[in-house]
Amino acid sequence: MEEKVLKRTGIFLSLISVLICGSIFRFPQIRSVSQLWVEAMNEYELKTQAEQLNMTGLELLDYNNEQAKEQAKEEPITFDSQLRLELPLGVSGDELQITQDYVTQTIDIKIPYADSEYFYRYPMLGRSDNIDSLTYESREGYGVVEFVTSQVLELETSFDKDYFYIDFLTPHEVYDKVVVIDAGHGGNAPGATKQGVNEKDIDLDIVLKLKELFDASGDDKSIGVYYTRTEDLNPSFENRVGLANKSGADLFISVHNNSTQSGKMSSINGTQVMYDELKGDEALGSKGLAQICLEEVTAQTGSSNKGLVEGNSIYIIRSSEVPVALIEVGFMTNQTELNNLKSEEYQKKVAQGIYNAILRAFAEGY
Ligand SMILES: [Zn+2]
Repeated sequence: MEEKVLKRTGIFLSLISVLICGSIFRFPQIRSVSQLWVEAMNEYELKTQAEQLNMTGLELLDYNNEQAKEQAKEEPITFDSQLRLELPLGVSGDELQITQDYVTQTIDIKIPYADSEYFYRYPMLGRSDNIDSLTYESREGYGVVEFVTSQVLELETSFDKDYFYIDFLTPHEVYDKVVVIDAGHGGNAPGATKQGVNEKDIDLDIVLKLKELFDASGDDKSIGVYYTRTEDLNPSFENRVGLANKSGADLFISVHNNSTQSGKMSSINGTQVMYDELKGDEALGSKGLAQICLEEVTAQTGSSNKGLVEGNSIYIIRSSEVPVALIEVGFMTNQTELNNLKSEEYQKKVAQGIYNAILRAFAEGY
């Protein structure tokens, strides 16, 4: 009797399980409903977490790191790079777009399909010691994570199917030598203006020709060159000298052109280079660099050598923590020199002179 009952119960249970399995198979929406429920709960938790946390991006990064450390007690989280971003479902690492502005130390990472909850849904992990601020903004069809870093940093990125990794490297970890080149003025600051010619344009033309020389040298690992501007823009003085200081540059060279104090056309002509007289006598300092620039530029252009000029009163010279030289290539108030400065051939000679000066400075131990 008892055996029969057990048997019947067994058959009954088997039937029930066959029915359950069958109904799941035949009515897949049963699973979907429970999945929807889970998703709804997740969404709710996410929303409340996002609202409750009310943190800045940096605070959230630190919070995520803490959470990860807690979890790591059971299941260690390891990654080699300094930051790890999670890729939204279906997005590959090579679909991310990175733009970097060295002058303001701003890095933007554009992530396709990252919505307004991305930052909460996919916790970012990593070191925040180089990061001054971290923001996230979602737009139509993508999101943008923006970092402002405390130094000029080069990025090394990699990814796997789930994560995108970012390593921050200092310029000297990438290049043997680092130089910052500054084209004077720009944008709504024309500098000296003579006969319809703006100093800002000549300064930039010379720097762009110098850039061509560096770009053509084909050796992209030994000298890293950063430019305060390669367009008609006017970065702040703070940003210009900041690029030199925050990149730990070996040299900072600013390119300008001169005019007489009155601004009137005159016979005064020639090349001058300004330096920081308060740091001038240091070995491999500002004065030595200025002298090298003066000699190499006049050697190429044949312009007259008007000597070195004390420049500590100039903000970018005074504030530079690295050897600095500000080259006043020629006088726009001298007709012959103005004609020269406008010509491409002469600008090329100036660029070659500055290029030679940089190589010589490095050869001499800067
Ligand atoms: Zn100037």
